[in-house]
Amino acid sequence: MASIDITIRGAGIFGLSIAWVCARRGAKVQVVDPNGPGAGSSGGLVGALAPHVPENWNAKKAFQFDSLMLAEPFWRDVEATGGVSPGYARLGRLQPILDDKALQLARAREVSVRSLWQGAADWSVRPVAEVGNWAPASPAGYVIHDTLTARMHPRRACAALSAALTALGAQIVSEAADAGQVLHATGVYDLAELSRAFGKTVGNGVKGQAALLRFNAGEVPQIFADAVHIVPHADGTVAIGSTSERDFSDPNKIDSALDDVLDRATRALPVLHGAEVIERWAGLRPRARSRAPMLGDHPLHPGQFIANGGFKIGFGMAPKIAQVMADLMLDRKDDIPEDFRPEKSL
Ligand SMILES: Cc1cc2nc3c(=O)[nH]c(=O)nc-3n(C[C@H](O)[C@H](O)[C@H](O)COP(=O)(O)OP(=O)(O)OC[C@H]3O[C@@H](n4cnc5c(N)ncnc54)[C@H](O)[C@@H]3O)c2cc1C
Repeated sequence: MASIDITIRGAGIFGLSIAWVCARRGAKVQVVDPNGPGAGSSGGLVGALAPHVPENWNAKKAFQFDSLMLAEPFWRDVEATGGVSPGYARLGRLQPILDDKALQLARAREVSVRSLWQGAADWSVRPVAEVGNWAPASPAGYVIHDTLTARMHPRRACAALSAALTALGAQIVSEAADAGQVLHATGVYDLAELSRAFGKTVGNGVKGQAALLRFNAGEVPQIFADAVHIVPHADGTVAIGSTSERDFSDPNKIDSALDDVLDRATRALPVLHGAEVIERWAGLRPRARSRAPMLGDHPLHPGQFIANGGFKIGFGMAPKIAQVMADLMLDRKDDIPEDFRPEKSL
């Protein structure tokens, strides 16, 4: 590669996606990560690309909606370029309705969704009997079925992006000097550095544990029940996640908190009972103090950029984040929502 236009530090979903959009637009890109692609939070199992509830609309929800709409062409292009599937499919999601109050709310959202989702996807209340075997236990007898939610396989998505970047001539290396414009997408590592430098918590890691079951559900919607994501993947597995732990002694330790998540999943969807657990995994979600993504000028490195704070929805937000960060770095076009500015967490 002759000269580098963009150096990206961190090969998680943020760094790789931004590198991908920059390379797609013709920039010469290097991605630097001493641990390799998908070594951090992005190397997980779950991959629920799910929207926020359709009400109290704000910039974050609108941004996420745009990102979910961008996801299909984004991942199709990645797969076509690199030849590796990220396991993306927009198969929707089912959520059980617990009582009459929740039923009324779900019906009200059936109406608000028409304008907020602009006819691009549905949110409908359906009798659980209509759904068949792959249906969550539902005390009120109804489920919410949305057609916006998609799934992809996080670890494979990182591999798919790496292959696509390599196909475009980008370099992914374990170390290299800065060259061209520099963006830091190093997740919890940068949040710790920022917190040290500013003498307060700018962000932190929130531990999550998840599991993978051998269970071939076929092409069915994912389920969100009792605060658990049940995500059927294309390869005959079902991911179950996740715990959410602010206090922990070991970020990688798997413990009984994951058994509780698995119990809740099986109670919500008895058909999973007895399925073999083939992997247990733990990672740290990068959470900014503002809880929103942190995008823009890097607070510690003048002239350089940051993309961090993916927290629980980093994969869902990645296509749009990649677009706005490429706009900023390549075209000096700044469409970052005010709530996503790094200053909001300082
Ligand atoms: C259990 C669990 C379940 C989740 N489920 C979902 C889900 O269903 N849907 C969803 O959208 N999101 C989900 N998330 C959140 C999502 O995984 C994160 O938001 C996302 O992975 C963050 O990506 P990132 O690229 O910012 O960080 P990371 O993936 O952590 O990447 C940071 C990278 O920086 C590298 N690095 C560190 N220091 C340096 C350095 N000095 N120089 C260069 N590189 C460095 C690391 O090696 C790492 O590869 C989940 C997270 C967890 C833990």
